[in-house]
Amino acid sequence: MNTPVKTSDNSGNADNNRENKSATPNIKPFSEAVRFHGHTCPGLAMGYLVAVRAMKELCSGRSEDEELVAIVENDSCSIDAIQVVTGCTIGKGNLIFSDHGKQAYTIINRTIKKAIRISLKSEFNTDNLDPELATLREKAFSEEATEQDKKVFRKHMEEVVSTMMKIPDDEILNVREAGLEIPEKARIFKSVRCAGCGEMVSESRARVQNGKIVCIPCFDAYSRGW
Ligand SMILES: [Zn+2]
Ligand SMILES: [Zn+2]
Repeated sequence: MNTPVKTSDNSGNADNNRENKSATPNIKPFSEAVRFHGHTCPGLAMGYLVAVRAMKELCSGRSEDEELVAIVENDSCSIDAIQVVTGCTIGKGNLIFSDHGKQAYTIINRTIKKAIRISLKSEFNTDNLDPELATLREKAFSEEATEQDKKVFRKHMEEVVSTMMKIPDDEILNVREAGLEIPEKARIFKSVRCAGCGEMVSESRARVQNGKIVCIPCFDAYSRGW
């Protein structure tokens, strides 16, 4: 991605192209991810591309229950798009966060027993899509940033997102089949009462201190540093 691409489409309909090209039914449009997330940004676009690609590779509709599992290795904006499109959520227990600080995502279909791993191509950089972006970002986040600076930066970001939606996703993503280690389905645990604060805590997360059951915030952690 060394060629700067400027698009003339400022309409904010970044999802139109990809949405119309989508051969898989029931894929939520990008606009829905934006609504859920609160703003549009390259991170969200990245997550959207990952999720749509995963749905196509795994021939799945949105996960109403737990047939899909997503293991995500960062907690960035992208995760919101993953949740909207794949239906894998923290609440359902089929979104698993591994804090590796990597733009890498493993999506598993339990039913067809297939897993794919998608990661960001090392050579992909949004700043290459718009040579002005780095300077504008610095300006917009500086102490002296004016409303106009922020507005201009947002506009450029939207154009970058729009471009990301138009170029082939293979220019952004590495996609490969992954080994299949299907995580256990979410379990339901009994709750016990914390002797410290009196609030209920799941047995699986409770600690014992001086012979009493306590929750993690009440637990006086003992560590020797290893
Ligand atoms: Zn964002
Ligand atoms: Zn407590």
